[in-house]
Amino acid sequence: RRATALAAASGPGRTKDGLAIALLANIGGVEDAELAGPQDLEGVGLFRTEFVFLSSETAPTVAEQTEIYRRVFEPFGGRRVVVRTLDAGADKPLKFADLGPEENPALGRRGLRLSAERPELLDAQLEALAAAAKLTGADVRVMAPMVATVEEAAWFARRVYENGLPKAGVMIEVPGAALRASHVLGAVDFGSLGTNDLAQYTMAADRMQGELSDLLDPWQPAVLDVIAAAGIGARQAGKPLGVCGESAGDPLLALVLVGLGVSSLSMAPGKVPAVRVALAAHTQLDCQQLAAAARGAATATEARDAVRAAASPEL
Ligand code: PEP
Ligand code: MG
Repeated sequence: RRATALAAASGPGRTKDGLAIALLANIGGVEDAELAGPQDLEGVGLFRTEFVFLSSETAPTVAEQTEIYRRVFEPFGGRRVVVRTLDAGADKPLKFADLGPEENPALGRRGLRLSAERPELLDAQLEALAAAAKLTGADVRVMAPMVATVEEAAWFARRVYENGLPKAGVMIEVPGAALRASHVLGAVDFGSLGTNDLAQYTMAADRMQGELSDLLDPWQPAVLDVIAAAGIGARQAGKPLGVCGESAGDPLLALVLVGLGVSSLSMAPGKVPAVRVALAAHTQLDCQQLAAAARGAATATEARDAVRAAASPEL
């Protein structure tokens, strides 16, 4: 027990039986990168690039972007940095990428849909990311937000490769993409579940409305079922699937996600130690059994209680 606790206190994420689960940081810019870089984690699982440009009046040049990305990558040395291309839209407006007001912004031209209408913005970003990757030697991987179809995934991957970046992925945050993950992930190198939006779209509950937080709970069995479908699809496609929504930082839910086939977890850096300890106390089979218990529950509360009761008592 003491040996396990010591092993769990630092280093790469692993289940008790040695299955590697990368523990990664969610960051929003240079300052976050400088704080997370020195910490004991395996890199970045989600760099929300739109955060950097929230106050920009005009589109940043390739040179300006390269300098920012260089400063973001530097603190991570040769570790992995998963960069999400601009996730802008009427719900997260950027002045230089504004397509006008929309009736239902969460369902509108956001994320990759906006990039498809403004491909010059995407290409400038990819060019800068490739340049910054070369300057720093970071293991840079790029993913697109708000992907719904296999055509969108393939279109994005082609643009990523054309800009000289080696790895393209997609966020799995639209239920349609999760249900068809074997096809969608077949067109790219990896997937990352965005459980914040996946819950919003699965439960048809606006994530900006605090009154709806019960519906947005990632323990909702329907959300777990959609994640499970994505896990099966990822295995069929032979592609790694991570999680970068807030749910990855909940130690009990992290175990369930691993049981559903997830191989990396990205979260606020401060949450990494507790998740590392939880993983080290459970085998892959334990995680699968916890996932089955959660999905067997009728409600979100029952799912959480069932997993808490069955998980290692130290958690
Ligand atoms: C998500 O949707 O879960 C996610 C990680 O992205 P964001 O919260 O930035 O939409
Ligand atoms: Mg999202």
